[in-house]
Amino acid sequence: MQAMTYRGPYRVRVEEKAMPRIEHPNDAIVRVTLAAICGSDLHLYHGLMPDTRIGHTFGHEFIGVVEEVGSSVQNLQRGDKVMVPFNIYCGSCFFCARGLYSNCHNVNPNATAVGGIYGYSHTCGGYDGGQAEFVRVPFADVGPSVIPDWLDDEDALLLTDACSTGYFGAQLGDIVEGDTVVVFGAGPVGLYAAKSAWFMGAGRVIVVDQLEYRLAKARSFAHAETFNFAEYDDIVVEMKKTTDYLGADVAIDAVGAEADGNFLQHVTASKLKLQGGSPIALNWAIDSVRKGGTISVVGAYGPIFSAVKLGDAMNKGLTLRMNQAPVKRQWPRLLEHIQAGHLKPSELITHRVPLEHIAEGYHMFSAKLDDCIKTVVVPEA
Ligand code: NAD
Ligand code: ZN
Repeated sequence: MQAMTYRGPYRVRVEEKAMPRIEHPNDAIVRVTLAAICGSDLHLYHGLMPDTRIGHTFGHEFIGVVEEVGSSVQNLQRGDKVMVPFNIYCGSCFFCARGLYSNCHNVNPNATAVGGIYGYSHTCGGYDGGQAEFVRVPFADVGPSVIPDWLDDEDALLLTDACSTGYFGAQLGDIVEGDTVVVFGAGPVGLYAAKSAWFMGAGRVIVVDQLEYRLAKARSFAHAETFNFAEYDDIVVEMKKTTDYLGADVAIDAVGAEADGNFLQHVTASKLKLQGGSPIALNWAIDSVRKGGTISVVGAYGPIFSAVKLGDAMNKGLTLRMNQAPVKRQWPRLLEHIQAGHLKPSELITHRVPLEHIAEGYHMFSAKLDDCIKTVVVPEA
């Protein structure tokens, strides 16, 4: 089958790979009909995540058709059209029992933090991902859900990560009626978080980024006030000014270990550290909320980003909440919002590329070319 493979920082290509097989009675094989490229894939693409091996297939956002099921699978059958959460989890361990699907202990027992994620390096279990014609889905009775008839494929695709993660980011903010919520990052995750903040009663939603075309989307899609941080000497001062010098109630970091495509192209991870590569957005978030405020971190960080203002967070009495999103937990509420017409996740899709052109898709998304927000990959199996 054809699959995207990693060849080293900034290099991916499509090549012929062995068909995935049922390796365990709980497995299913899914023929991928749509996949997407996520901001998290960019951390891998930029070489910022440890143990990303040559030949690994990325892709943790995908939907498809069940091709084959293992002997113990009961909830799925051949031909079912499914959306598959990006987390791989057993559904029954200590963590899964508490809804912490992204921290499942059984899929990745050697890791101290994260559970299993499709196509997200050997740090996250080494499972090949869905930017391919076929993918092996472990614990097939647990993660995947049959896509309801009324739901568009592209909307379903976005529920497998970006949209659910944005919603989760807003949930972690513990927003109460009237809160001022600042979202750092106007990528798909930040835009869905901004939109979701209204569902939870926010009184003001502010989005900060430097890409004007994305801030325009934040205004139209998420009805947010926007600030382009490149236009100000100090964005934190602007956040204070606009909140009567109190600070926002909630800040959401939807940036993470951002490596600007043009900037990092020639910078290795170690050089970045020397240049003071710090989680700027997270520090801005800490500085922008009021004392006693809440910080929600859904942006993903790798090991080289360790210069966080934890002392300030402590002295301000902040609540910091974070995790990989256990996306299936967000589905029931999101499906209600979609069905009620409050949300159309696929409005953020700007590009659709065939699998064979995925390298161009990565380059475009990484360098933020052609007003790219979300790119969908279409395998031609
Ligand atoms: P993206 O690359 O499309 O968006 C990131 C945006 O942040 C860009 O628009 C960029 O211009 C902006 N940005 C960069 N530095 C900034 C700063 N200092 N302040 C404000 N904005 C800044 O990525 P995405 O798909 O939206 O994903 C965003 C983050 O969420 C990534 O770190 C990704 O790994 C993470 N993520 C986490 C989960 C989870 O479950 N927790 C799931 C999906 C994605
Ligand atoms: Zn993702």
